[in-house]
Amino acid sequence: MLPDPARLSMLTSHPPMNAFLRHMARSTGASRLHGHSLETIQINLGARCTLECHHCHIGASPRRDEFMSAEILDDLLAQLPLAHCRNVELTGGAPELHPRFRPLVERLRALSLRVRVRTNLVIHLEPDMRTLAPFLRDHQVALIGSMPCYLEENVDRQRGEGTFRGSIEAIRRLNALGYGIDPQLPLDLVYNPGGATLPPDQTRLEAQYRLQLRERHGIEFTHLATITNMSIGRFRADLRRKGEEEAYQTLLEEAFNPQTLERLMCRHQISVRWDGQLFDCDFNLALGIPITTPEPRVSALASIPATRTIATGNHCLACSAGAGSSCSGALVA
Ligand code: SF4
Ligand code: SF4
Repeated sequence: MLPDPARLSMLTSHPPMNAFLRHMARSTGASRLHGHSLETIQINLGARCTLECHHCHIGASPRRDEFMSAEILDDLLAQLPLAHCRNVELTGGAPELHPRFRPLVERLRALSLRVRVRTNLVIHLEPDMRTLAPFLRDHQVALIGSMPCYLEENVDRQRGEGTFRGSIEAIRRLNALGYGIDPQLPLDLVYNPGGATLPPDQTRLEAQYRLQLRERHGIEFTHLATITNMSIGRFRADLRRKGEEEAYQTLLEEAFNPQTLERLMCRHQISVRWDGQLFDCDFNLALGIPITTPEPRVSALASIPATRTIATGNHCLACSAGAGSSCSGALVA
């Protein structure tokens, strides 16, 4: 028997609510999450990285070989002026490994876009990257780098042996160029918990980081961004191994904070994957959940309505727990 068309349409237009939407509906009455305004385009240039961190939601590593092609980059550069957004964030993997990284930065700056690069920091120590930092400084590119603790042991456990010392050396070199000191050259650091807990208060932790990194290593940074681990990728595999996945999900649900909803990053940004597919955020990108518009491709970027319906899932609870979480840190004080 063929399904009744009215019921079929109801089922397809109202899929069962995930835990995030249930909490949102309970506190706001809204059953869907919508975008607000397009402020940032996040461009994921590829999955190769010089590191292989435990918490990496992309699963990046030195063995990955996905890179954004020249054709996709050209499509993207054609769409960006039409999309009317002010900020571009380059991410990966290690975005600096993309063969057209520097020409891309030059083109983006020529379009008067503010550019921020998510860096693993230690890339600056690679022999063929000696001129990278001066190049970034000359183009006034902002940096945000992973530094999950101010203690060597904790960083090396999460990101690989020697990463802490390498990151300190990279920050020292960046400081020498003005990064983290000159307000025009921001160098933000990213903290994420080492396990299945919520991040501590961002302002207090930032003060601790500043004190510890200054006193122990004589280095400076601009701001600290605290990010909640999302139960996807390698972090999820770790949780499963330890039998902690369910408890972590419960922790996130119990910490649901409706005040974070207004500022969720997906409401103000779109992510572009190396193959030209569009996503509401980098986490949906990692999970392969594309944007819910008829043509989720980079060639249609400028025509995507700011108020699109955002594709959500249980993983969204990590963005709305406690003080909230985004690629730029906590969402509410
Ligand atoms: S530095 Fe970033 S992209 Fe590279 S493996 Fe670590 S978390 Fe993933
Ligand atoms: S995971 Fe992505 S889609 Fe979900 S709330 Fe966070 S930013 Fe939005």
